[in-house]
Amino acid sequence: MATGSPDDTDFDYATSVARKAVDFMAKYRVPPTPDNFSVWFTYALGASIELKRAIDILIGNRRRFDAKTNNDLFNAYVGLQASDGRTINHASQRLRSLMVSARQFLSTAIADNHSQMQAISDVADRGGAEVNSRQLIESLMKELEKATTRATHLETNFAEKARELDSIRDSLSKSEERAKTDTLTGLPNRRGLEEFFRVAQISAMEKGEPLSVLLIDIDHFKKFNDNFGHGVGDQVLQLMGKVLREKLRDGDLPARYGGEELIAVLPKADLAACKRVAERIRRTIAECSIPGRSVDEVLPRITISIGVAQFQPGESMAELIERCDRALYLAKKAGRNRVVTESELSPELAATG
Ligand code: GH3
Ligand code: MG
Ligand code: MG
Repeated sequence: MATGSPDDTDFDYATSVARKAVDFMAKYRVPPTPDNFSVWFTYALGASIELKRAIDILIGNRRRFDAKTNNDLFNAYVGLQASDGRTINHASQRLRSLMVSARQFLSTAIADNHSQMQAISDVADRGGAEVNSRQLIESLMKELEKATTRATHLETNFAEKARELDSIRDSLSKSEERAKTDTLTGLPNRRGLEEFFRVAQISAMEKGEPLSVLLIDIDHFKKFNDNFGHGVGDQVLQLMGKVLREKLRDGDLPARYGGEELIAVLPKADLAACKRVAERIRRTIAECSIPGRSVDEVLPRITISIGVAQFQPGESMAELIERCDRALYLAKKAGRNRVVTESELSPELAATG
């Protein structure tokens, strides 16, 4: 009875997974691009529990798999996140050369082992003919000593390679951190925010918990910059970062969303709770005095306006921030230095699109 070779079995299995992936893609109208295919192949294979969970939740919420969602899925669960492309390229070159030398090192070790075994077995063979056991022991000792020196040398080499691997891993994770951090305020940047939000969003949907976001914009910041200089303006942004870090709970995320716009994501907070936090932040900033360039320079107080909105299951971060933005617009129109939530929006302002 002829059964397939292991290669045939692998082929059949991979083909059935690929078919399943294609069926899913057709069902959920996902365009058949190479990136999308790798996402859905991974899904059909069940190789990533996180990816499976994310997709199942999206399906459960009848979310459309639009270009943005597909791209997010690929970047988050399948592709190499290469925003700091240079470091990653550099690291992958180092990795490649490390792998070449590790392979050489292993084949040297195997060949060495083989020739040492041969040398020892030659000595042992001679042992059968030679009666002089002292000579036999000395030959054996010499061969074993050679083997030990060589093994120590190889071991040192191996330890060096392992250290090199550690350093590549460190530099990769540092560069990933850098790519997610804003240099001026030290807060997560938009990329860090998106990563955090993706997890927070899924967790809120799974646990049925609220999730709210506040969007902060500094009032008349352009005039402030014009009057006191961009450098002092930068200090204001740093101060805002500090206040946000102090006023938020562990588990919340402050981030720099754009130029002078900051954001905070508050898991487990509903609109009312988020509004209270926003009020605290607004009041604290309004009470801060900003040091000028000289001791006698008096700078006016800075105020901020804040728009607050609560996540609706299934919506994207962009949709949620859009509602924060509309609330923020209302806060500006109503005179600035205030917090407005989406519940205060008129129906036409609340309408999406
Ligand atoms: P409004 O109260 O309506 O928000 O007025 P505004 O002047 O703050 O509004 P607008 O959004 O027009 O201006 C934003 C200003 O923020 C423009 C720019 O000078 C300033 N800004 C953006 N990014 C930075 C930054 O990194 N550093 C500094 N110092 N200023 C920045
Ligand atoms: Mg602005
Ligand atoms: Mg502004």
